[in-house]
Amino acid sequence: MATSAALMQSQISTLQQVNEAMSMRRKRKRKVFQSDVSLSVAEVEAIEEQEQIEAQIRGEMRRLKRRSPTCSSCKQQGHTIRTCRNKE
Ligand SMILES: [Zn+2]
Repeated sequence: MATSAALMQSQISTLQQVNEAMSMRRKRKRKVFQSDVSLSVAEVEAIEEQEQIEAQIRGEMRRLKRRSPTCSSCKQQGHTIRTCRNKE
């Protein structure tokens, strides 16, 4: 199946943003380990952050799909074949 390059690019940029956020959070987590905060607190924080990130990814993907439908008739984004103006 042909997938719109623009749609793929927007998904990739979203993933890049999430990756940046994750690497920033990893740096912060390392700082926590270096200080005298107990392991259990850091572990709980890490799990909570991971759950937040996963929920964020799911939410972003759902939003992208809903906002950017791709027409299966003319392959343009923003509308579906039902509302296609290029269709006779
Ligand atoms: Zn169309």
